[in-house]
Amino acid sequence: MTIDRSKLTPMMKQYFEIKDQYMEYILMYRLGDFYEMFFEDAIKASQALEITLTARNCGLEDKAPLCGVPHHSVDGYIKRLVDQGIKVAICEQMEDPALAKGIVKREVVRIITPGTITDPDMLDASNNNYIASVSFDENGFGLAYCDITTGVFKATEMSQRTTLLDEIIKIEPSEVIVPEGRVLDDTIRSYLNSADITVTEYLAYAFETHASRHVIQRLFDVFSTESLGFSEYPIALNACGGLLAYVEETAKVPLAHITEIDLYTQGHFMMLDKFTRRNLELVETMRSKEKKGSLLWVVDKTSTAMGARKLKTWMEEPLLDKGQIDRRLETVEVLVEDLMLRSDLRTLLKQVYDLERLVSKLVYGSMNPRDMIALKNSLMVLPDVKACIQGQIEGEFETIHTEIYPLEDVRTLIESAIVEDPPFTMKDGGFIQNGFNADLDELRDIVKNGKKWLLEVEQREREMTGIKNLKIGFNKVFGYYLEISKGSVKDAPDTYIRKQTLANAERYITPELKTLEEKILGAEEKINRLEQELFSNLKSQVMASITPIRKTAGAVASLDALLAFSECSYRYGYVKPKITTRDDIRIKNGRHPVIERIFKDSIFVPNDTYLNGKEDQFYIITGPNMAGKSTYLRQVALITLMAQIGCFVPAEKAEIGIVDRIFTRVGASDDLSQGQSTFMVEMSELANILNNATPNSLIILDEIGRGTSTYDGLSIAWSVVEYLAEKSTKTLFATHYHELTELEGLVKGVKNYRIAVKEAKDDILFLRKIEPGGANQSFGVQVAKLAGVPIPVIKRAKEILAKLEVNDINRNIEKMGGSDSARESYSVSSYEIDESLYKYIETVEVDQMTPIEAMNTLYTIVSKFRDL
Ligand code: ADP
Ligand code: MG
Repeated sequence: MTIDRSKLTPMMKQYFEIKDQYMEYILMYRLGDFYEMFFEDAIKASQALEITLTARNCGLEDKAPLCGVPHHSVDGYIKRLVDQGIKVAICEQMEDPALAKGIVKREVVRIITPGTITDPDMLDASNNNYIASVSFDENGFGLAYCDITTGVFKATEMSQRTTLLDEIIKIEPSEVIVPEGRVLDDTIRSYLNSADITVTEYLAYAFETHASRHVIQRLFDVFSTESLGFSEYPIALNACGGLLAYVEETAKVPLAHITEIDLYTQGHFMMLDKFTRRNLELVETMRSKEKKGSLLWVVDKTSTAMGARKLKTWMEEPLLDKGQIDRRLETVEVLVEDLMLRSDLRTLLKQVYDLERLVSKLVYGSMNPRDMIALKNSLMVLPDVKACIQGQIEGEFETIHTEIYPLEDVRTLIESAIVEDPPFTMKDGGFIQNGFNADLDELRDIVKNGKKWLLEVEQREREMTGIKNLKIGFNKVFGYYLEISKGSVKDAPDTYIRKQTLANAERYITPELKTLEEKILGAEEKINRLEQELFSNLKSQVMASITPIRKTAGAVASLDALLAFSECSYRYGYVKPKITTRDDIRIKNGRHPVIERIFKDSIFVPNDTYLNGKEDQFYIITGPNMAGKSTYLRQVALITLMAQIGCFVPAEKAEIGIVDRIFTRVGASDDLSQGQSTFMVEMSELANILNNATPNSLIILDEIGRGTSTYDGLSIAWSVVEYLAEKSTKTLFATHYHELTELEGLVKGVKNYRIAVKEAKDDILFLRKIEPGGANQSFGVQVAKLAGVPIPVIKRAKEILAKLEVNDINRNIEKMGGSDSARESYSVSSYEIDESLYKYIETVEVDQMTPIEAMNTLYTIVSKFRDL
C-alpha cells in the first residue's frame, strides 16, 4: 500500500524511518510495555502468531493495522516467528519516556534469525544450531560456520561443489549467509530451499579479503590472519569475514566467547554423502526422521548436553588417522574394563550442566543467579573428575586431564558471592551472600534492625496507651502506620496523626515512625541496586575465564562421548576392533547394532565378512526377499564406521583397514522415501559413486538397477561390477539379478554369497546365515505365501513361473560366456532380437499396465522370444 507519509503522526514517521532499513524483517517496535507491529508486519505477524489484529490512529484516514505482544513474554513470540523462517528486528526505546523531549529515541538493537538465536531455552540442547556462510571464487568454495551459543567456530574450503554440498548437509545449518548479488550455485540453492534452510544475502563487500582480514583480526585480537593459519585457506577467510561481520554488525550478537577458529581440511574425516548418511540411518531413521532406530539412538549414552552434541559430531565425522582412532579406542577400552571408573565418572558428569550454553548466557547477558549456581555446581565436580582420571596415561586421558581446568578461583568466587538457592527472579534481590560485601551487609543490618525497631515501637506504644490490639502495619500509599480498632480510638494520644479511617479501625502515623521508615525503605532500595551491581561485577569477573571454561567444556564433552561409547560397548557386548592401514575388512560374527536392539527378543544371527582389494573384493549377494541382504550390507558399513569413530563394534572380532569413504546406494524400488520415477536419480548417484570411489572406499549397493527394464538393469549392474572390480574398490552388492552370479570366476575379485534359506515344499525358512554361492531361485512365490497372499493366486503364480523358467535368460547369458575380456565382448545386440519382437517391445508402455497386463505382455514376449 502507498502511504502519504507527510500525514503521519510523528511517532509513525519515526516508525517508518526505522522500518525502511529493515524491510525484510518484522519490526517489533517497543511502545511502553509492548512490542508493536504495524501495517503489513502486523498482518503477517498476527497470522503467524495467531494473535488479534487491531488498528490504531496513525494520522491517515484509515487506521494502521496493529498487533502487539507484551515485552515480558516476547521471547516465546520471537521463537515462533523465527521457527517459521521469519526474521525479526527488535527496536527498543533508547531513553526513558518520562524524561524524553518529544518522540522517544528508538533503535534496532538486535536482529534474530534462525541462526542467531541466543537464548538456550529456545534451542534443542542436543544439537548445535549453526549459522554458516559460503564464499566462492574461480578456485573453489569456502565454508565457515559457527554456533553462537557454544562458541564453536570452524571453516574449511574445497574445490568441488558436491563436497561443499555434502559438508552443508553434514552440519545442517539453520541459516546460510551468502554474498549479495553473486550467483550462488543452483544445486546448492535448491538444496537449501528444499531443506528449509534460511538463506540470507549480505553485503558482498564483507566477503572481500581486506574486509574479512579486518574483522577477524579485530575479533581475535591478532595482527595478521596468517597467525591463525589462514594462509592456506584464502577462500575460507572470505567466508569467515562475511559470517562474522553479519553476526556482529547486523544481528548485533556479541562474540566474546568465540576465542578460537578451527580451520580444517577436507580429507581429515571420512566423507559421507547425503545418501549414505540417510541410508545408514546414522542420526535419524529414513522414514520417520526420528532418533529412535538410528545408530545414534543405540550409542548415545551421554550424561551431558555437551557430550550429546560432541557424540553426534563424531558420528558424522569418522576419523581417518590410525593414531587418532587408536587413542579413542584405548580410552574406551580402559573405561569398558574398569566398571568402577566408568560408573563414577558417569555419575559425576550427570551433575555437570551445559557449560557451553551457560557461557553463552554470560556473553549475552541473560545469566541469572541460578545459572551462576549451576555453573558453580558444575565446576565443583571437576576436581573429582580430574582425580578419577589422574594417572591414566592411555589414549585421550592425559589430554582430557590437562584440558579440564580446575577453575577453583571462579568456583570460590561464585560460592562467596551467591546464595546457594537464589530466588527465581532477580528484581527483589536476596541472591548475594552475606559477608560478600560490607556495604550490603550494613544495609541489610538496617533493614533487619528496622524490623526489630518497629517491634520495639509497637510494644512501647501498646504499653503507653494501654491499647492491647495496637499494631504496626505497612501500605504503599503512606508507608508504616499504627492501627487502632474503633473501640480504642478514644485512648489514642494527641501526638498521633490520623491518616486513614477504615470500617472498624483508624490508622495513624507519628514523626518517629516516618524517620524509621525512611531509613528502612531507603536501605531496601539501595540493597536492590547494590545486589544488581555486585552481580554485574561478578559476571565480568567470570567472563575473564571464558577461554578455560570453554576448553573445559570441550574436554568434558569428549570424556562424556567416550564414556558413552564404553557404556554401550559394555552393555551390548561389543569388541575393540583392530585398526589397520591394510586393504581389508575382517569381521567375525558381526551384528547389526540397531536391528539387534530393536528386535531384542529374537536372536540376531551373526555373520562373517572378509573383504579385501584382491580376491575377495566384490560380494554379489543373492537371496530371496526378506532373507537379510540389506541388513547384512548395512551391518558391514556400520561396523566399519563405528570402528573409525573410535567405538567398539558389535562382533566377536574385527580388523578394520581404514576406509576413506563409505558410499551406499539403495535401488529405487527399495527406497520408498524417494518416491516414483527415480531411475534417473539412482543413475546420477551411481555415477557419483563410480567417479569418486577410490581403492580405499567401501561401497554398498542394494538392488540398484531395479527402476528400469530387466535387460537394462542387468546390463548396467553387470558393467558396474566390471568397472569397480578394475578399480579394486571393496563392494557389497545385493541383487535380485541372479544372472550376475555368472561373474564369479569371470571377473577377478568377484565372489558369490547368498543368505541361506531352508525350503520345505511351499514354505521357506530364513536362516539369516551368509554362505558362499549364488541363490538359484528367488522364492518370490514362497515369500508371497508367507505374506498371506491367497492360495489360488499362489498356485496360479507357480504355474506361470514354471512356464517362464523354461526360457531362463541365464541360457542366453551363458552364450556371452567369458574370458577376461568379457567386458568387450558383451553387448545387448548379441541377443539378436528379431525385428518384429523389437517393434512389439517398443510399443509396450509398462507404466500404463496393470500387473495382469504386465504378466500377459511378458508372456507374449517370452513366447515370441522362444519362437526365434
Ligand atoms: P532383504 O534385504 O534380503 O529383503 P532385510 O535385510 O530387509 O532382507 O531383512 C528383513 C528382516 O529380517 C529384517 O528386518 C530383520 O528383522 C530380519 N533379519 C535380517 N537379518 C537378520 C539376522 N542376521 N538375524 C536376525 N534377523 C535378521
Ligand atoms: Mg533389501
